[in-house]
Amino acid sequence: MEHCNIAIVGAGPAGIASAVEAKTAGISSVVIFEKARHLNDTIVTLYHEGKRVDPVYRKVKIDPIGKLSFDTETKEEFIKRMEEVSSAHSLDVRLKSEVTKVITQADGSFKLVTGAGSEVVAQVVIVAIGVFGKPVKPSYPISAELKDRVLFSLPKTPIEGSSVLVVGGGDTAAEVACFLCEKNDVSLSYRRAEFFRLNDINACNLKRCSCKNKINVMLSTDIDHLSRDTAGEKIAVLFKDGRTMSYDYVLYCLGGSTPQAFLEAAGVEFNGKMAVADSAGETNVQRLFLAGDLAVEKGSIMAAFNSAKRTVDAVKERYGQLFR
Ligand SMILES: Cc1cc2nc3c(=O)[nH]c(=O)nc-3n(C[C@H](O)[C@H](O)[C@H](O)COP(=O)(O)OP(=O)(O)OC[C@H]3O[C@@H](n4cnc5c(N)ncnc54)[C@H](O)[C@@H]3O)c2cc1C
Repeated sequence: MEHCNIAIVGAGPAGIASAVEAKTAGISSVVIFEKARHLNDTIVTLYHEGKRVDPVYRKVKIDPIGKLSFDTETKEEFIKRMEEVSSAHSLDVRLKSEVTKVITQADGSFKLVTGAGSEVVAQVVIVAIGVFGKPVKPSYPISAELKDRVLFSLPKTPIEGSSVLVVGGGDTAAEVACFLCEKNDVSLSYRRAEFFRLNDINACNLKRCSCKNKINVMLSTDIDHLSRDTAGEKIAVLFKDGRTMSYDYVLYCLGGSTPQAFLEAAGVEFNGKMAVADSAGETNVQRLFLAGDLAVEKGSIMAAFNSAKRTVDAVKERYGQLFR
């Protein structure tokens, strides 16, 4: 069976940065497992075409502490640069390799099982699978007949000439609304009385689109439930204030949630919805670390880069003697 020093699960910003930090720190035999056919699947699939990738996200500015950092650039530039980073450091990335199980062995090492059936033994595991594989859904049920018109990310086929209700109050909701309003009739529903989490650029863009009547901003609006419009073609959105409005699509931008089942199966304990981990990301399972969105309170790319640095420093200090 193949053996490695560090197995990293997920080739997003945190996984790639963890491998770069480990290699730079002189640790050999570092393998990244990625379930998609490419690096950075969250960014490839969930960011819209040409999206601005901001280092200041969720209003938090983070100074770099490790090897990776970036300035504002487009989605396409970011993806290309990360591919170059991966090549420049000769990272060993196994694409199309979803890790389905992480099993702790009697000697404290781990056996990782992939969907393709291969098995690898690792001295240390860094789980960097992010939270966007599991989008947050509203508390009310969504009936199966509406599912093709209720979205949790932008679909591959562009939406054009439609009425769209975007739901959410964060940077993603604002960006998606501004993007869609160029070719659609867009409303943005947020349950609070004002936006307080937007970065300055998104706040400004949203204001501009709203002033030009390109986006109907609906603050203090809370959805009670969705049903099929009586004409049958659209979705009827019933708000808690008693109003009903109809749209072609409803797109929720409510963020992501921790893949709790995957982590619990590996033995990781939870405190509420957060996995228990120390400041370096080490969980209650010795030698099993979390990095990126799984390890920080307010996830972002810069937070993922920095968490990778903290994790790899701790891995080297605590377990460097195990490495061959
Ligand atoms: C629409 C949108 C816009 C955003 N805009 C910005 C922005 O402008 N600036 C910013 O800083 N942040 C932004 N973010 C947040 C940012 O994308 C995340 O904080 C960041 O990607 C977290 O990095 P990560 O490596 O922890 O996780 P992710 O980027 O989610 O990467 C996880 C990787 O793990 C892989 N994976 C998952 N499960 C497995 C498995 N079992 N086996 C193997 N591989 C697996 C996934 O395919 C993925 O490639 C945005 C998020 C969204 C959704």
